Amino acid sequence: MSKIETLFSGDHEEVVFFNDPGIGLKCIIAIHNTQLGPALGGVRMWNYENADLALEDALRLSRGMTYKAAVAGLNLGGGKAVIIADPKAEKSEALFRCFGTFIESLNGRYITAEDVGTDVNDMEYIFMETSNVVGVAETHGGSGDPSPWTAKGVLEGLRACIERKLGRDDLRGLGVAVQGAGHVGAHLVHLFSRHGMRVYVCDIDRARCDSLTDLENVTVVNTDDIYETDADIFCPSALGAVLNEKTIPRLKCKIVAGSANNQLANPEAGDELFRRKILYAPDYAINAGGLMNVSIEFEGYDELRANRMIRNIYYVMKTILQDSAKENLPEYRCADRVAERRIAGISRLRGRYMGHTKPTFPGRVVRR
Ligand code: NAD
Repeated sequence: MSKIETLFSGDHEEVVFFNDPGIGLKCIIAIHNTQLGPALGGVRMWNYENADLALEDALRLSRGMTYKAAVAGLNLGGGKAVIIADPKAEKSEALFRCFGTFIESLNGRYITAEDVGTDVNDMEYIFMETSNVVGVAETHGGSGDPSPWTAKGVLEGLRACIERKLGRDDLRGLGVAVQGAGHVGAHLVHLFSRHGMRVYVCDIDRARCDSLTDLENVTVVNTDDIYETDADIFCPSALGAVLNEKTIPRLKCKIVAGSANNQLANPEAGDELFRRKILYAPDYAINAGGLMNVSIEFEGYDELRANRMIRNIYYVMKTILQDSAKENLPEYRCADRVAERRIAGISRLRGRYMGHTKPTFPGRVVRR
């Protein structure tokens, strides 16, 4: 099947690409579903081997955003952008402003934010060209970097997992293995250490772990050893598809709960974790803290409200885990069901989000 036929047989509403050879911008935006509202999802900048892999990533990540917003109770749809470039070498003001003009052309159907390879400074350039960006700096009335909020949300969800699986409500003394010491991973290491946990951490860019070794009970391990530590919890916080047929048999933990998007390589990986009695916190349910935080930016940012929303991740997770235990169903399937039921219910009230309403040809008078 050709790529375009694959897209037509899938469930994405819209997939667009943008190319500016002069500036060096090659990007794809995938809008998965806007039944609940405009599609919101970060922009990932990554040196993809080829454009097909970038497209695949945009499609998978945007679907995840639909489910994340739905489970989080937000009136947002799911979308994602990928820029095919090396974030360490190819960032420029022109590139992000050019990307901003492209987003503006989508008329509000897609709202961007930061993701792997992009940060709050990049959002500032995008903001110069479009207001359809969140996670902009506080000085511009934004909510800033969402990563600390994502980390907070992971901690809330983890509490529910620990209660369900280990029958306790304190974290002290538990071991946790954090894969990736980037924006979210580093915050998680700080939080876990502060809560008296034994923390293992790794990163392909080892320098990112340097500042963490001064914290209490933090040990840096090799990237390949992270799956086999004696930690109670494995916390994927780097890239996706890390739970697969090669890694799952190596896990010694009782719980998998982390911030990374698309942790399961495929649905079978979720089934296999369940079969092995390893509790899996569905990624899009536990990592919604950052999305919750940025989602209130348009209404006037309020930190108290953000905290209240993020606290809710504990209850969402608790419900998913209860359903999973009661019905003997893998956790990821229970989470999907929560999302799909909400989308189905709300879509009866309204259609998909078609962008801001403004006259297409201002000034043109229709005479009858
Ligand atoms: P980041 O780019 O700041 O950090 C990712 C880190 O992972 C980098 O330091 C990178 O070197 C490291 N890494 C990559 N592959 C690795 C591997 N195989 N082993 C060990 N380390 C590896 O990204 P981030 O913003 O911290 O996001 C981390 C994950 O959480 C991503 O999957 C992202 O989609 C997801 N997420 C982030 C947010 C947010 O608020 N930033 C919100 C929801 C989900």
